[in-house]
Amino acid sequence: METRKVIVVGGGAAGFFCAISIAELNSSTKVTLLEAGKKTLRKVKISGGGRCNLTHHCFEPKLLTSHYPRGQRELLGPFFQWQPKDMIQWFTERGIATKREADGRVFPVSNSSQSIIDCFEKEVGKKDIQVLRNSMVTDIQCIKNTNSWLVETEGGATHEGDQLCIATGTLKNSRISSCLEKLGHTLSPPIPSLFAFNVPSHPLSDLSGLSLQDAEVKIPSLSISQMGPVLITHKGISGPAVIKLSSWAAKKLFFKDYKFEVLINWLGSNGGMEGRMVLKNVRKEHPRSIIGNCPYPLIPKRLWGKLLEQQSIAKDITWAHLSKEQEKSIYEYLTAFRLPVDGKSTNKEEFVTCGGVSLTDVNFKTLESKKAKGLFFAGECLDIDGVTGGFNFQSAWTTARIAATRIAK
Ligand SMILES: Cc1cc2nc3c(=O)[nH]c(=O)nc-3n(C[C@H](O)[C@H](O)[C@H](O)COP(=O)(O)OP(=O)(O)OC[C@H]3O[C@@H](n4cnc5c(N)ncnc54)[C@H](O)[C@@H]3O)c2cc1C
Repeated sequence: METRKVIVVGGGAAGFFCAISIAELNSSTKVTLLEAGKKTLRKVKISGGGRCNLTHHCFEPKLLTSHYPRGQRELLGPFFQWQPKDMIQWFTERGIATKREADGRVFPVSNSSQSIIDCFEKEVGKKDIQVLRNSMVTDIQCIKNTNSWLVETEGGATHEGDQLCIATGTLKNSRISSCLEKLGHTLSPPIPSLFAFNVPSHPLSDLSGLSLQDAEVKIPSLSISQMGPVLITHKGISGPAVIKLSSWAAKKLFFKDYKFEVLINWLGSNGGMEGRMVLKNVRKEHPRSIIGNCPYPLIPKRLWGKLLEQQSIAKDITWAHLSKEQEKSIYEYLTAFRLPVDGKSTNKEEFVTCGGVSLTDVNFKTLESKKAKGLFFAGECLDIDGVTGGFNFQSAWTTARIAATRIAK
């Protein structure tokens, strides 16, 4: 019997896991992995601040999908086939112990992304997978009479495979977008996701470094909001709530050229009627105490002082001297603090690109193209992206494993 040949394009998380899985599930397949760069697994290396947040401790497929602004519906079936629990077990069986942090993020116990890279490289060696670096794929063609695939790399070398898996990450600099379009695929334009909001002439810049664990950030023009920790930076606002919001609103904010207004509710889940009553009660019960003493235990003193300053309310007047209008104004500043955003800053810990191969053109039971037989996709080249927390690697592992399962059959 002739050995089946498979080509995987892209030596990142999805490409490596796909290539290894194919060889693991069908040892008679010859797998060649083509990587454009000098080095493979570069993003894995820098991921999670060098610690690699490899997945999230969320084992319920439906709940897991709720962390994907794009790909939520399509990933449900795949997560029933390969999910964080499977990936953790896969690593454990290969000697990589993992740990879960309080917020659910999962890391290798070693706290080093290098252990993930070493594990993949060891598997690639054991399974005799051919990894060709400095091999930027520039052309892809389907050979009609044999139903196989021919890829050409920069410099003119060609490789033939019975099946082909595209795992190039973002298509932005991949040089294969036009080939995929020629094959009938629609591509959504690459657009950044996971970023902080810049606020020029930032009124809170001298509070830079201050963070609130429970706040709410809203974009009224998009009717979208997110609760969670917010960090005030010298450039604007950041922190998990902001980064998650950027992900949910990524495409719409791109078309607004990152110019929009946000409203911050500094009281977060402690706002509403309860939060309003705190002000009313303090006026009634402690009329002689001074306003400078913040009545909200979770609002940092510096922020409280700044909010009063912005409304020109002296810190040393007593609650009895506060007018009804001033009380109303304090509450508005606390629950709907306006900030005009103009621009974004990339999140250094983790950033992804949304956009890529349109999901309607892909069969999510197999990750095979609906446009061309024998062509598969895995990872960030698909129009899928998650919020921070290990979700982006998980979608790369899942799509890679499912593509590999079908290829190996
Ligand atoms: C700084 C940073 C930190 C991150 N941290 C985390 C984290 O902790 N947890 C998490 O879940 N996600 C994290 N992410 C996101 C995560 O890294 C990506 O979602 C993931 O790497 C996608 O994997 P991929 O294999 O699809 O793409 P990539 O990792 O981008 O790999 C694609 C590979 O394909 C190669 N390639 C491209 N075009 C061609 C071509 N034409 N021919 C040959 N090769 C080609 C590229 O050179 C690249 O090596 C982080 C991202 C960044 C930038």
